[in-house]
Amino acid sequence: MRRLWLPNYTYVYTMTHIRTEQSAAMRFSALALARNAASFHENWPQLWRSPTPQSRYDVIIVGGGGHGLATAYYLAKEHGISKVAVIERGWLGGGNTGRNTTVVRSNYFYPESAHFYDFALRLYEGLSRELGFNVMLSQRGMLTIGHSAHHLELLARWVNALQLNGVDGELLNADQVREWLPLLNNSAAARYPLRGGLLQRRGGIARHDAVAWGYARAADALGVDVIQNCEVLGFIRDGERIVGVETTQGQLRAPKIALAVAGHSSVLAAKAGFRLPVTSYALQAFVTEPVKPVLSCVALSMATGVYLSQSDKGELVVGGGLDLYPSYAQRGNLPTLQGVVAGLLELFPCFSRLRLLRQWAGIVDVVHDSTPIIDKAPVSGIYLNCGWGTGGFKAIPGGGFVFAHLLATDRPHKLAEGFTLKRFASGALIDEAAAAGISH
Ligand SMILES: Cc1cc2nc3c(=O)[nH]c(=O)nc-3n(C[C@H](O)[C@H](O)[C@H](O)COP(=O)(O)OP(=O)(O)OC[C@H]3O[C@@H](n4cnc5c(N)ncnc54)[C@H](O)[C@@H]3O)c2cc1C
Repeated sequence: MRRLWLPNYTYVYTMTHIRTEQSAAMRFSALALARNAASFHENWPQLWRSPTPQSRYDVIIVGGGGHGLATAYYLAKEHGISKVAVIERGWLGGGNTGRNTTVVRSNYFYPESAHFYDFALRLYEGLSRELGFNVMLSQRGMLTIGHSAHHLELLARWVNALQLNGVDGELLNADQVREWLPLLNNSAAARYPLRGGLLQRRGGIARHDAVAWGYARAADALGVDVIQNCEVLGFIRDGERIVGVETTQGQLRAPKIALAVAGHSSVLAAKAGFRLPVTSYALQAFVTEPVKPVLSCVALSMATGVYLSQSDKGELVVGGGLDLYPSYAQRGNLPTLQGVVAGLLELFPCFSRLRLLRQWAGIVDVVHDSTPIIDKAPVSGIYLNCGWGTGGFKAIPGGGFVFAHLLATDRPHKLAEGFTLKRFASGALIDEAAAAGISH
């Protein structure tokens, strides 16, 4: 018995043999749905192949999360480089890409980040059409709530920066925030009183698995080998240069090895013989049982760092800050979860009777200035896409695009010139802790 994915992302069990030829990136349509219904859904093609690894590639990308898959897609599409393998030790999107709270936005403070993240958001806006796969982008608005005079001052600075950088954003007074969030605790005794907010209307959420699957399918159709259940254990050297990887499926060689492994960047860097300015922490999230629509936007509290949205299924998707110590334990600890729940209930006491359905964590790679690293590594042959910390889902299309440019041309893309390792020597850090640190 096999599992077969349908375009609406549910699956059916079928006894039929799944076709294994290269998927030609079929177009999903009402007609295709009707045609396949007539044949009892037995003839949907695989979304991507399961190829046997070849011994040589032009580029090997380690990590089958959103960034690795998007990089493969743009390498093939924008640069005509399709002799590419994406090597994933588990299943596609099983890392942080499938564990995040799906918030997308581009309201960053400094010009480098604002321009980059806005480019990523613009790619998101056309992504379903580009990939022929519905990533369920919902631009329902992202509202950051201020609770004090100090917050209002910060929000005013922030909105000025957005406008200077050409990114949409508007200040809301307390009454306007109340209209967006009628269930927010509005009593005179509220611990975190409502003073105002910053709204980015183009912010919202997208379906995380679909982003990984859409890129995988489109990259596969362009000839990329997407290889799952294949862990990179070490590197093959030729003198000072890295020329390949040792994997659980044997040795694979390529002149360029791209690391897009998020929370495990330092682990692989250590195997290659260099260190990264990255610390890994667990970041948790949870969902409640589903309820009728109660929340129309993504909301984030500046006082508690708690943020939430409501999924299409009706669950409230809630997140907060990092666990407080470095760790690779992907469970997350209870005190952090309790802190996030306490913050949530200060803001929305009416949610106190909701039961939690699921809780999980992912290991994120945090850099001191909360800005990513997209650069060549200090060891020749290795290229880095890491340091996304708590906020790299929204960056996936942009991250893949600029990383593919670096791999193809050996020069940083204009939008990512500030994201190189040089900044740690020069001191030209882009400190986005306020925009990225906890508020994904
Ligand atoms: C709880 C949580 C909430 C978040 N919320 C948001 C949010 O709302 N918005 C936002 O923008 N960002 C958010 N993020 C951050 C975001 O999820 C990540 O920054 C982003 O997904 C990173 O994508 P990636 O492709 O780099 O990493 P991943 O998706 O983690 O992919 C890396 C892959 O590398 C693989 N790998 C690791 N080691 C090896 C190896 N040795 N060999 C082969 N494969 C290997 C892993 O299995 C993994 O699949 C959140 C993260 C978490 C954990």
